Amino acid sequence: MKIPFRVTCKQATELLIAQEDRKIDMSDRVALRLHVYACKTCPNFEQQLVIMRKSMKLWRNYASGGGEGFEPVEAVKIP
Ligand SMILES: [Zn+2]
Repeated sequence: MKIPFRVTCKQATELLIAQEDRKIDMSDRVALRLHVYACKTCPNFEQQLVIMRKSMKLWRNYASGGGEGFEPVEAVKIP
């Protein structure tokens, strides 16, 4: 039986990646938040995803706008 709001680190990373592309279910979102809050390693992975997303956005702006709207690299803070 699946325990509600309980996910493993593997499931949490899958959900973190999934929510980059699509909206995930409310129950998945709650389970994910609870896991990331309680887990020691998953917040690091989430942080890396945030940095990747920001980098991709910068790259896309740069690639399509000929540098227009390009933010300085300092905007992406690596902890
Ligand atoms: Zn975890």
